[in-house]
Amino acid sequence: MKSGIEIIENPIFKIIGEASDFLGLESYVVGGFVRDSLLARECKDIDIVCLGSGIGLAEEVAKRFNLSEQSVSIFKNFGTAMLKVDDWDLEFVGARKESYQRDSRKPLVLEGSLEDDQNRRDFTINALAVSVNNDTWGTLLDPFGGIDDLQAKIIRTPLEPGITFSDDPLRMMRAVRFATQLGFDIFPETFEALTTEKDRLSIISMERISEELNKIILSDRPSYGFLLLDACQILPIIFPEFMKLKGVDTEEGKGHKDNFYHTLQVLDNISKNTNDLWWRWAAILHDIAKPQTKKFVQQKGWTFHGHEEIGARQVPTIFKRFKLPLNEKMKLVQKLVRLHLRPIALSKEEITDSALRRLLFEAGDELEALMTLCRADITSKNGDKVKKYLRNFDTVEGKLREVEASDSLRSFQPVFSGEVIMDVFDMGPGKEVGLIKIAIREAILDGLIRNDFASGWDFMISEGLKLGLKPVKSLDQMIS
Ligand code: ATP
Ligand code: MG
Repeated sequence: MKSGIEIIENPIFKIIGEASDFLGLESYVVGGFVRDSLLARECKDIDIVCLGSGIGLAEEVAKRFNLSEQSVSIFKNFGTAMLKVDDWDLEFVGARKESYQRDSRKPLVLEGSLEDDQNRRDFTINALAVSVNNDTWGTLLDPFGGIDDLQAKIIRTPLEPGITFSDDPLRMMRAVRFATQLGFDIFPETFEALTTEKDRLSIISMERISEELNKIILSDRPSYGFLLLDACQILPIIFPEFMKLKGVDTEEGKGHKDNFYHTLQVLDNISKNTNDLWWRWAAILHDIAKPQTKKFVQQKGWTFHGHEEIGARQVPTIFKRFKLPLNEKMKLVQKLVRLHLRPIALSKEEITDSALRRLLFEAGDELEALMTLCRADITSKNGDKVKKYLRNFDTVEGKLREVEASDSLRSFQPVFSGEVIMDVFDMGPGKEVGLIKIAIREAILDGLIRNDFASGWDFMISEGLKLGLKPVKSLDQMIS
């Protein structure tokens, strides 16, 4: 493992040390930076604690980097100051002591010693500090055995876990988040306290909970975090819909797969192929409506008819509760949930160009995400089966690409726009324009005409005539 001196080899620390000595302050780099440095993980945030004014230290450091006064962001209420040096984010704070009240995660803050400051930190591995003053340069302070826990890969609270979690229940989500990001175990007593204190999460805002959940989702193996949240009984509190996926019913000796574990495997699978949070959310939600749609049908077995559509409609409710953005990201997740069976269905039947065109049209720019989700959705334990399904997808994808190349449907911009239709029939906006547009789109998707003037002209004219409209322009006039 790195020594204290190696942890602070970045020249930035020399400057911070000099500024501290100049002001007569003891200063330390603490928390995430020290932890990540020892784990050889990238970390661009540097937290500095000093015995005195963090704001004053930040201003002195800024001076030494020739930064203007405005480049220091000061948060007077918190006694903190931040500044950027190159691509490093530095945060300065005076050492503090905290005391908590029962109904809030916002503590009363008093000045304190370094020891007080380390005591208020959430986990032993986050309480490591390295001195940057000249005469104690590189001394590593590890009051709670954080180095041992890093080596043993353990998440443990420095003080009594029940009190630590009850004081600031967000730390429970952080415990699971760090365990998942780092692939660590949670120390047994710490883990027990997650269960006993779980109801305290009610004083935490959903935004903060989702922020941690999203970090779990963005880790290399998110299933681990979900399994921990399930084991300590936090998952039902924050994500009841997901819990409903759990369990297997049996009828006439036939069971279905456990959709809880299936979904987690799909999530892990897709995480190997994308770091996009929303693609990963689509994996989490793709089967979310299976519990409501589950039915045992004689001779057929278990069915989940319509779960993709009902699931897609459930997405906004779930996003709203998690305070996730209700924007085009949510629409992407909805689209993926809605379409997740389509490529599979295609690979099972005789593939018609029309079906391919419709899928291309509906998936639009999300085709790659959809195919990535579908591949992740194959969770059979039978390797031969998996290979066969993946080959089928290759076939579907190849054909999609062929149709795409000839029809350019993905960026489907009908050449017969509303303006063109109004121009040709010399009319203003109205119901007829929409009707003609839909008819043309359907004809293109069915392969009756192509998406160009020459091919679709006669079709458009005849649709207009059916509605009693008369064309005032010819094809030649329109393309000249
Ligand atoms: P990351 O930046 O990856 O989230 P981090 O450990 O740097 O990890 P931050 O939230 O940036 O986490 O916090 C910096 C440090 O502040 C932590 O290492 C920890 O010592 C302390 N800390 C943060 N949040 C809490 C909390 N809720 N309770 C106690 N200590 C905390
Ligand atoms: Mg940090």
